[in-house]
Amino acid sequence: MRSDRPGRRPPAGAGDARAGGPRAGHRSARQAAAGRQRQHRRAAGAPHASVRAQPHRRGQGRGRGGRADGRAPRRQERDGSRPVTRSLKGRILTPAGLVDGTLRIGSNGRIEAVEGTPVAPESARDTAGPLLLPGFIDLHVHGAAGRDIMEGGDAALQVARKHAEHGTTALLATTMTAPMEDLRASLAPVGALARKGEPGAARVLGMHLEGPYISSEKLGAQPPYARPVSLDELKELDALAPIRLLTIAPEVPGNLDAIPRLVAAGFRVQIGHTAGTYEDGVQALQRGARGFTHLFNAMTPLHHRMPGMVGAALAHAQYAEIIPDLLHVHPGAIRAAMRSIPCLYCVTDSTAATGMPDGEYRLGRQPVTKCLGGVRLADGTLAGSTLTMDRALRNLVDVIGLALDDAARRLSTHAADFLELPDRGRLAAGAWADVVVLDRDLRVQEVLIEGGSTDVAHAR
Ligand SMILES: [Zn+2]
Repeated sequence: MRSDRPGRRPPAGAGDARAGGPRAGHRSARQAAAGRQRQHRRAAGAPHASVRAQPHRRGQGRGRGGRADGRAPRRQERDGSRPVTRSLKGRILTPAGLVDGTLRIGSNGRIEAVEGTPVAPESARDTAGPLLLPGFIDLHVHGAAGRDIMEGGDAALQVARKHAEHGTTALLATTMTAPMEDLRASLAPVGALARKGEPGAARVLGMHLEGPYISSEKLGAQPPYARPVSLDELKELDALAPIRLLTIAPEVPGNLDAIPRLVAAGFRVQIGHTAGTYEDGVQALQRGARGFTHLFNAMTPLHHRMPGMVGAALAHAQYAEIIPDLLHVHPGAIRAAMRSIPCLYCVTDSTAATGMPDGEYRLGRQPVTKCLGGVRLADGTLAGSTLTMDRALRNLVDVIGLALDDAARRLSTHAADFLELPDRGRLAAGAWADVVVLDRDLRVQEVLIEGGSTDVAHAR
């Protein structure tokens, strides 16, 4: 298990991380794989243990007035010297459901207690007070604010700051298919960020390697550097920055057989950018793959006599990503997937164009154009999104019609469970105080990352 705070107390009732993969028939293989992964992490002495971020420093020109409790920031918080004990009042989504009450945060940045009276889910937004949801967790982030993770340097920090404004409290920096020298250059600075965190930035939990071990037939917007899995390359990259998630195409020769070795080495394998069949998908799940990368996009579609990779996911997956920007997947297909995949969770697949005006940007080595809310290659292929997680929440609730509690879990809790992080993605005693405070129109009012308040003024 790759908990980012080994040895710390998990939140009460939060240890229900469920394994992915086929629901029936493959459980023992999956559990064995998960056991190997945990074993590996223990043997490795949890080398990627991270250090808690400091609270946002208000002297850096990013401060904002107002707190969810309506009072001025306390002295320590203004100075940014250390987190402070704080109480937030409002309608709070707990693992047991909504309550009207108080969430107390300790000086260690963790939730001390959540108290209140239960509220019926159907009246979730029937309140004048703030809504407090678990901070969003986005496992597929290429960029924002004009910056791309593949740039290296301080790109990941700037990307994490922009997404924090929109309620994202933790994310995976996501690479493109690329030559090794480009991957090395992009991972090295993320390793440092994952170890120490930064004020006002979403916690970078590690990397999602989207390729290069994918299908050259299903590149989507990925450049033509696809190749078979190399465990040596992965170990070299993992030493630079923790690889939490790895997208591969199982039908590429050698990849299916490599999955058990990848899992045994501690890598969480996800199926994506694949021209594989339904059978390839089922076999990959049986061998230890656990999720699907942006379900429906860049994979073989479902036909009733040839169910393809989408069919494998709908029939067997416990977890999968989906991009709810309403451009990548039709709302009806999102609803269908939610009925089939219990822990379907949302990602943005966001690019440098996120939070920026229409114009020309880069996605890895490729030029892309942002226009009418979409990001595309010159040939019109969708190339990631400009989605932010707060907009994803509004899309799920206001357009697709999900209940607020269900939508919130698909933006946070399920992703935390998928990464086996019991102390994130839920507002419960012992968990990190990663909180997004929203008004009844689901606009972000305040974001707390490990108890520290974050400026959201630019997001409004
Ligand atoms: Zn992507």
